[in-house]
Amino acid sequence: MNKDANFHLFGQLNTEFNTITAMIDLYCLRHHQPNTGKFQRCADCEQFRTYVKQRLDRCPYGEKKPSCKQCPIHCYKPQQKLKSQTIMRYSGPKMLVKHPIMAIRHLIHDKRAVPERNKKMTSNYKTRKALLNNR
Ligand SMILES: [Zn+2]
Repeated sequence: MNKDANFHLFGQLNTEFNTITAMIDLYCLRHHQPNTGKFQRCADCEQFRTYVKQRLDRCPYGEKKPSCKQCPIHCYKPQQKLKSQTIMRYSGPKMLVKHPIMAIRHLIHDKRAVPERNKKMTSNYKTRKALLNNR
């Protein structure tokens, strides 16, 4: 794993990251695997996954993060946004069969209203740095 991605996401953010990881892997499994019978995420998808993690880390809503679909902040670069849409379109419908609990949680989260931003909201990044400084 990329060294910059070796950090922890808290609560909801980690749940969301696990869900997205499952979606990336479903996509990668179908599109990028050589016929070795053993799954290993390709370099491109691994890099994208790291990008996703870094965006989640910096999301100013922190654990109150709305679903990306509804979010007023568009934080993905165009290329990564395109990759994300491609993966969601392919893996979204498959998630209900492969990972039903994650899928249902994701669907419920998608419907939730975007919260009002307030000062109590802190990004995962700031929370991590605060914890480090208090050690
Ligand atoms: Zn891949």
